[in-house]
Parts: sequence; structure tokens; C-alpha cells
Amino acid sequence: MMTEQTKKTRPGKVYLVGAGPGDPGLITLRGKYLLERAEVVVYDYLATPKLLKYVPKDAHLIYAGKKGGTKHTHTQEEINQMLVDWGRQGKMVVRLKGGDPFIFGRGGEEIEQLAAAGVAFEVVPGVTSATAAATYAGIPITHREYTASVAFLTGHEDPTKKDSNIDWPKLATGAGTLVIYMGIKNLPTIVHNLVSNGRDPQTPVAVVRWASTPEQHSVIGTLETIVEKVRVEGIKPPALIVVGEVVKLRDTIDWFEKRPLFGKKIMVTRTREQASELVAGLEEDGASCLEFSTIHLKPVDSYEILDGELERIDEYHWLLFTSINAVKYFFHRLHERGMDSRDLKGVSVAAVGRATGDLLLNYGIRVDLIPETFTAEGLSESLLDLGVEGRNILIPRALKAREILPETLRGAGAQAMVAPVYQNVPVQGDREKLRRILEEGEIDMITFTSSSTVTNFLALLDANDQEEMNMFLQGVKIAAIGPITGKTVTDNGLKIDVQPDEYTIEAMNQAIVEFYSRE
Ligand code: SAH
Repeated sequence: MMTEQTKKTRPGKVYLVGAGPGDPGLITLRGKYLLERAEVVVYDYLATPKLLKYVPKDAHLIYAGKKGGTKHTHTQEEINQMLVDWGRQGKMVVRLKGGDPFIFGRGGEEIEQLAAAGVAFEVVPGVTSATAAATYAGIPITHREYTASVAFLTGHEDPTKKDSNIDWPKLATGAGTLVIYMGIKNLPTIVHNLVSNGRDPQTPVAVVRWASTPEQHSVIGTLETIVEKVRVEGIKPPALIVVGEVVKLRDTIDWFEKRPLFGKKIMVTRTREQASELVAGLEEDGASCLEFSTIHLKPVDSYEILDGELERIDEYHWLLFTSINAVKYFFHRLHERGMDSRDLKGVSVAAVGRATGDLLLNYGIRVDLIPETFTAEGLSESLLDLGVEGRNILIPRALKAREILPETLRGAGAQAMVAPVYQNVPVQGDREKLRRILEEGEIDMITFTSSSTVTNFLALLDANDQEEMNMFLQGVKIAAIGPITGKTVTDNGLKIDVQPDEYTIEAMNQAIVEFYSRE
């Protein structure tokens, strides 16, 4: 509870922050800085909710709504009043608005109200959707050879209004490039106003919906053809209209929609903790990713085995890590026991792959061995080549895992000890949601990065039989990170479309890109 005392000692402040056009990467550093410190965030329909991840967990989040044309969640008056009230309560308030707050965003009105009420404020500009939409559609809004002027207009005016605030006779030919916000509903009137006031009907036009997001959709035409094209493509708000010769440059400059995975929707079934690297890579190539975690990691219920082995760690010759998770949980426990890397002195360390090896370096361990093939088989082969007879080998790993590594090593005369350090538990996911997404045919590809992601995914889907499973997965491509995961896929009666030669996230990402460029 806010006390009278703190209310007086710390005045509130309202920061009007531009969220940018949609891609969360397009907020300013200043905007992000403020979000990270906000106590109250009031955000709009067009301010991407993805930015809310920066907001402290205990902050108060208020959705202000304002979806063009539909019912407003809060009226502008209510929003203005809300900002004043929070400010007066001494809060650090971020008012997050789509694009730039002062471009067709009613930011001016919100600030006027704050000023009148004596509440302190600041404004942080944002990347406005006009420049973003043009840029992401491959159109430079100015260009020395085409135009030296650009005008931003609203297309939201009531078309029956007698005295327009827009001077169409002057604007129609007065600026080389026109960018029109909120104009989709009135597109026929806008086109009419331009052509009847002298703009050439052959002037190129681009209409860009959801610019800078994976859902971006652009339609290109001329003043003569654009109305019909927009109707055929079913373009709805939010979209921008770019009019002018510069639109022609898209033929050369279009870059965003040309990225190899643009328009592909890919489901990532990895644990929430690990999905980010794969998601980031795929999104960088233009895909839209849906994270659907099927497994969750947690520590084992008892560390008795590991603790016992750590007591006699100096008797070990080898320490083997078969996953990044094994490294993380092993060191977590080591540190919990008041030990660190120095206690592993004299023990050789092997990692199943490069990523695991890289992570070990973060803990101060330079690995002695990484096999050429990044699997348990590859690792045991490399160790066998070095000779393991009579060697003591410790394998911290998942509670449930394949026994191939310890068994092969034992078969070759080693004392191989398995110490479980973490466990995979299936996520009690939302079956209905998963089924609905698949039924709607939204997903182009599903990625599996371990056998347990496959089995947990199928358990969650819970199809009655093979036929029902095939129905859910109709038209969905499947990517498996390596042969073991791939075998689990095929053992379950599914077909693999993508499997990289090297079993890493990076190689898998690359294989997916190659798959779609072949298609
Ligand atoms: N202040 C905002 C504009 C708000 S007006 C800005 O600076 O961008 C709302 C209009 O902005 C929408 O009707 C649409 O024309 C445009 N708009 C906002 N985000 C958009 C996006 N991602 N793609 C296309 N148009 C967008």
C-alpha cells in the first residue's frame, strides 16, 4: 500500500513511449529502459504485447484496447484520466503506444491532460509504422531520382464529411510520396480524391498490413488497380497505403518478405528453457515460431548418488557430459556443495558436442574430447579408441536416458557410473489448444530436438489411432535434430522431412532453410 508519506516524497511521472510498428526489436533503447523500470504500463492494441516481457513482474498492466473500428476497451477520456490518476499516486507510468506517440496516436491529447493536471511527463519517440511499413516492404520513401518530399496523412476521416481537414487538391500532387494511415476502409474514396485532383492513375501503390511482423502482407498495384486487389486479397486494418513512384523500387529492394522462411509457421517443442536459440534462429530467417513446450526440466528428487561420487571424485579418470542440461545441473549441485571446477582437477572431461563443450568452458573447463559425431554412440566410439579398460567414468545425466553409453563403456571394461542430475517431466499441456492449432492447418513444420519431445508431443496430442494422428499432422513437415530423434519419429509412424548431417541447433536451422529453398 502506498502511504501518504511516500506519495509526498516521490512524485509520479508518465512516460509516453513509442513501441514501434510491431517487431519488438524496433523499440528504442530508451523505451526499453523505461519499461524495465515501470510500475504501471498502459498499452494499446498496436503496441506489441511482446514488449511486456521487459516489464517487472509486479508491475500493473493495463490494456487500453483501441482496435480501429471495433469497440474500444477504454475511451480516450478514460485513458487520459487513468494516466493522471496513476501519476498523482506517485507511480512511474509507461504509456506504451504503437509506432510513434505523436503521429496519429492522440499522444498530444494525453500529454495536454497531464500538463493541465500538473503531472510530470516525458515523451519517447518510436519508429512510426509509415516508415517501417515502407522499409519492410522494400520501399525507400524518398529517393533522389524519384521524390524529394513525403507526406503522412490519415485516411480515417469520414468520407461524407463536407470540409475535409485534408487539402486533397494540394496534396494529391503536392508531395512525391504519400503515406496514408488508417485508410483501408476509405481506400476507394482516397483513390478517388487523388485521381480526381490530378494524380496519375498509373501511380504505383503499396498496401502493407501488419508491417514488420511475421504476418506482414503486402499488395502492390496502381491507383487504378489497388482497390480491387485489396478487396481480392482481403486486406483488413491495420495497414498503410504508400503512394508514389518509389513503390517501383520494391522490385529491387524487397528484403523482408524474401527471407527464406518468411510466411512459414514453425512449432518448436523444446523445453521453454531451451527453445530460445532455435526460435531466434528460425525467426531471423523470417519464420513465425510457435513455442509449444512438451517437456520441462527439473532437478532429481535426490542427489544421493552424485554427492557420493563427488566425495571420491579424485578416483575418476573421466567425466562425460551428454547434454547442456547435464552440465548445468551438475555444476549447480557442485556449487551447492561448496565445491567448484578446481575440485575436478585431474579428471578428463568429454562433451557430446560443441555446444556442450562451449558451455563447459564457461565453467572454466576446457574439454579433452568432443567426438566427430555428436551422439552417445559417437562419444563412446571416441572413448573406446583411447582405451577405457579399468577406467573410472562418471556420467551425470538425465534420470531417464538411453543406456547405450554406460553399457558400451562397461562392455569395454570400464567402471561407468551414472549419476542422475535432472529429470524430464512432460508438460501438462493444453491438449485442446494443440489439436485446434493443428486442425486449423496453421502449422507448416514441427521441430523435434530430442526423442522425449517426440513422445511427449504425441502423448499430449493423444490421437486415437494412426489415422487420426495422420489427420492432425496432414501437410505438416517434420524436422528431427538427429538420427536418434529421427528414429523415434519414424517408430511412431511419421515421416521425417528434415534431418541435418550435424546434430546441432544451428545445423538444424540451416537444414530447414535448405528444405524450403528446394521446395
Ligand atoms: N502512432 C502510430 C499510428 C497509430 S494510427 C504510428 O506511429 O505508427 C493506427 C494506424 O497505424 C493503423 O490504422 C495503420 O494504418 C497504421 N499501423 C500501425 N501499425 C501498423 C503495422 N504494423 N502495419 C501496418 N500499419 C500499421
